[in-house]
Amino acid sequence: MKSTEISVPERVYIETFGCQMNSNDSDRVLSILTSSCNGPGGYVKTGDPFSADLILLNTCSVRDKAEQKVYSLLGRFKPVKIERPSVIIAVLGCVAQQQGLKLLKRIPYLDMVVGTQNLHRIRELLIAVKNGSERVVAVEESLTIGEDEYTVPTKVDGPKAFVPIMRGCDNFCAYCIVPYTRGREVSRAAVDIIAEIKELASRGVKEVTLIGQNVNSYAPPATGGVKLNENFSALLKEVVAVDGVNRVRFVTSHPKDTSEELIALFGTERKIATSLHLPVQSGSNRLLKLMGRGYTVKEYLGKIDLLKEVKPGIALSSDIIVGFPGETDEDFSSTMALIERVRYDNLFSFKYSPRPGTRAALFDSQVDPAVASKRLQILQKRQRQISAEKSEALKGRYLEVLVEGASKGDKNELTGRTACNKVVNFPGSGSGFNVVPGDMIELLITDVYPNSLRGVYNERGLLCS
Ligand code: SF4
Repeated sequence: MKSTEISVPERVYIETFGCQMNSNDSDRVLSILTSSCNGPGGYVKTGDPFSADLILLNTCSVRDKAEQKVYSLLGRFKPVKIERPSVIIAVLGCVAQQQGLKLLKRIPYLDMVVGTQNLHRIRELLIAVKNGSERVVAVEESLTIGEDEYTVPTKVDGPKAFVPIMRGCDNFCAYCIVPYTRGREVSRAAVDIIAEIKELASRGVKEVTLIGQNVNSYAPPATGGVKLNENFSALLKEVVAVDGVNRVRFVTSHPKDTSEELIALFGTERKIATSLHLPVQSGSNRLLKLMGRGYTVKEYLGKIDLLKEVKPGIALSSDIIVGFPGETDEDFSSTMALIERVRYDNLFSFKYSPRPGTRAALFDSQVDPAVASKRLQILQKRQRQISAEKSEALKGRYLEVLVEGASKGDKNELTGRTACNKVVNFPGSGSGFNVVPGDMIELLITDVYPNSLRGVYNERGLLCS
């Protein structure tokens, strides 16, 4: 591979699929490509793929038929490559990691395939493509995190930011593709995470969300040969101590790794948001065991009860898979009983579909899709009622809101989010209150809608900025 600097194309278009980890990866890739400190020929971002010189698709394997979707997306860009052969087209992320060379072989006009652990090398890989007219595949896995792997995004978009604290997952739940696409669990050093958060705070970030596939099992590497006795709770305490950061969230948590020490922090650390996403997946012990989740319903509910005790009013959300292989009517009833008991504010529910390469894809006794659809409908209908009841209970209450910016639907309105993770729209300019994105204000909730709340200013107004 030649490593000389070259003159590179100017406009980069990126399309991102999947989870928050992928969005964050895309931001970091764009930061590398648009940063002038990376040498000559920095890119500018464009929203138009047909005028771009570099087209990036950051892919997700979690959804059904992910590979086919990538092929059909790439088909859209084939005419661009025919018309302008100098355009570089790359597939990044989870499908790239899984398919590797297969993608290049199948798509002759594809130039690069870059897996989840090689995204920080994007510029060097581009140089290889340009210099040598090579087609590149970079899907090597590593058990450590390289110094340059997590560049701080050069742009901060509003008062909220996502900070990865680890990558990969060691759990191998029977239905999940993530351990095969993101590799083994590796944590970033706490010192690097805190430095990044301080940098973000200095640029106006007020709310930080720590992200990883399984943040509760955060375990930083040894430094100078010394293994630190640090865990996720210790990291969280360091994060809330950063000046300028007013609110901290984290996602995704695994129930088996959600410790009592961590739950206690919800009661003592004011900056930890009053919400938690704790994916349960099923209310049946038999299915939890088949899924390989590592907890029972009783253990899960014990943690939920403790959370509600230390943080009354905490907003809980979860993921549920309906129609997992072997799910009976009785198993489904257990799941319904669990949602009645917990009363989640929000639920992300899906009908099971097999992911090639996972254990569950080989299970027999797959559930009739029509039965699974019916169960999903029943569950979602009930959850909509529960969510509406929980939102209704907020009417007439004063809630702390982080102002995020102009409302999408009405530019005269502002929008923000409560600590319990609800979107609130409220009067903007002309209201007599002068608030800007990043301010923490108190609003009186006056109306409740299916996906948002409406608030008016409380006489106490601004809480902090
Ligand atoms: S813990 Fe989450 S990311 Fe890891 S295998 Fe299970 S479902 Fe997938």
